[in-house]
Amino acid sequence: MKKKREGKKMKIAVDFDGVLMRTNEALIEVFNNKYGSDLKYNDITSWKMWEIFNCKEEEVLSAFLELVDYDWAKIPMEPKANYFLGKMHPLCHLDILTDRTFIPNTLEKVENKLKLEGIMKGTHYRNLIDTKGVDKKEFGYDLYVDDNPEMAKSEKGTLILFDQPWNKEVKSKEFNDNLKILEEMLACPENKVFRAKNWSQVYEYFLKFFGGCV
Ligand SMILES: [Mg+2]
Repeated sequence: MKKKREGKKMKIAVDFDGVLMRTNEALIEVFNNKYGSDLKYNDITSWKMWEIFNCKEEEVLSAFLELVDYDWAKIPMEPKANYFLGKMHPLCHLDILTDRTFIPNTLEKVENKLKLEGIMKGTHYRNLIDTKGVDKKEFGYDLYVDDNPEMAKSEKGTLILFDQPWNKEVKSKEFNDNLKILEEMLACPENKVFRAKNWSQVYEYFLKFFGGCV
């Protein structure tokens, strides 16, 4: 009986890097130390960082690899991510989906970092899943919370695009308090990308879309 009820819950996939944690703060530090540059977080205005850093793709990938040994306690959490996950998890099926391709063998580090920030399996999320390079939209969730601008290209599932300097150019709907307008937007399949500037807005969207998922 319990299983049947759970089956009706909306499935939500929340990203780790760039949504729960500001991992690129660490990447920038590593990159600057490695190559003597003076780049800032807000300079990452493209998903293809090597194009704006004016360097080779391999140099960015090499900096990513160094994050394996980085002290993740120093990586800032997006403000209140833990608080709002705790509010959302009981109302839906919430998994954390992360692609570890560029920072390999770090799923355990991800889990430890989540714990460190008070994001606990069972009370804040259900499963932690490494997508291993597979398109997240292929996992069949109803709602995605992600910073990846590439995910806006597919119409599968609704995307709450977590606002970051590297996804500003994605065409998306800005946060709006008016529930009716949001309902009208959702009725149009081409309007399934909603930009959230912070976790408070993610939560507001969540409540409006699904009425609490129950
Ligand atoms: Mg991300």
